[in-house]
Amino acid sequence: MSPRQVKVVRSLAQLREVVRGWRGAGDRVGLVPTMGALHEGHLSLVRLAKAKSGRTVVSIFVNPTQFAPHEDFTRYPRDEAGDRAKLASVDCDLVWAPDLAEMYPTGHATSVVPKGAAEGLESAHRPSFFVGVATVCTKLFTQVAPDLAVFGEKDYQQLCVIRQVVRDLDLPIEIVGHPTVRESDGLAMSSRNAYLTGEERALAPLIHQVLLETAASVLDGVRIQEATRRGRDRLAAAGFRVDYLELREAGTLAPVEDESKRPLRALVAAWLGKTRLIDNIAVS
Ligand code: AMP
Repeated sequence: MSPRQVKVVRSLAQLREVVRGWRGAGDRVGLVPTMGALHEGHLSLVRLAKAKSGRTVVSIFVNPTQFAPHEDFTRYPRDEAGDRAKLASVDCDLVWAPDLAEMYPTGHATSVVPKGAAEGLESAHRPSFFVGVATVCTKLFTQVAPDLAVFGEKDYQQLCVIRQVVRDLDLPIEIVGHPTVRESDGLAMSSRNAYLTGEERALAPLIHQVLLETAASVLDGVRIQEATRRGRDRLAAAGFRVDYLELREAGTLAPVEDESKRPLRALVAAWLGKTRLIDNIAVS
C-alpha cells in the first residue's frame, strides 16, 4: 500500500476550491466517474486520465437514481478505505465522494432524459437507468468542470449515451473511451463479479466466449438474427438467463438495417443466479 493518502472532499465548495487552485496553476483536469469498489479496470481508466491531464479527480458515488427499487443499491459493494489506497498507487489527485444530500439536496427535481443511444438494450430491462446515469454524470461534469472524462467500453451503451449527452448539451468536455480490462479467462472485470459463487465464476467467461463466436459467425456471413439466436441458446443451455444479445451499429447503437454495414458492436446482458453480467465487443 502506498504511504500517500489521496485527499477526499465531500462538499461541492471544497471540490471547487481545489479545482480552482489547479486551474490557477494552469493544470488540465481529468475526471473518472465511478461507483467505487475499484478494480484494475477502474485503475486503468485513472492511469489514462492521468496521462492526458495533469490532475485527476475520481468520483466515488453509488448513485441511487440509476438503480430500480428491486436492484442491488443497498448491497452494492462499498470500500472507501481500500479504494483510496488503490487510487494512491496510481497517483490520483483527489477523490470526490459526496453523500446523498450533497448530490441530491432536498427539492432536487431536474433530470437529463437521453433518447437515441439510450434506447433499447439496457433500457429495455432497466427503464430509468440512463436517466439516472445521464443526470448524475451531467452533475459530475458541472461540479468538477474537467477538460476530459474517461469512461470504460465495458459499459459501452453508457459510453455512447454520455458522448451523446455531452454533444447535445454542448458541454465543453472531451469524452475518452478505454478498452475493457479482462481477467485472464476473458471475463470483464466488474465490481459485481464479487457476487458470483465459485461455480458461477467458473461459468462466467462463457459470456465473452459467446460474444467472440457470435462476432466470428457474422463476419463469416451468418445472418445476425441466426448468429445471435445461437449465442442466446448457448448461454441459456449453460444456465444463464439472457436479457439480450444483440448487434448494433457501433457509433450510434442504432439497430442494424443493412447487414453489410461496419463497424458493428455485439452487446450482451445475462444473469447467472442473482448476478447480472454485461459485456460487449467490436465486430470488425
Ligand atoms: P462503475 O464503478 O462500475 O460504475 O464503473 C466506473 C467506470 O469504470 C465506468 O466508466 C466503467 O465503464 C469503467 N469500468 C468498469 N469496469 C471496467 C473494465 N473491466 N474495463 C474498463 N473499464 C471499466
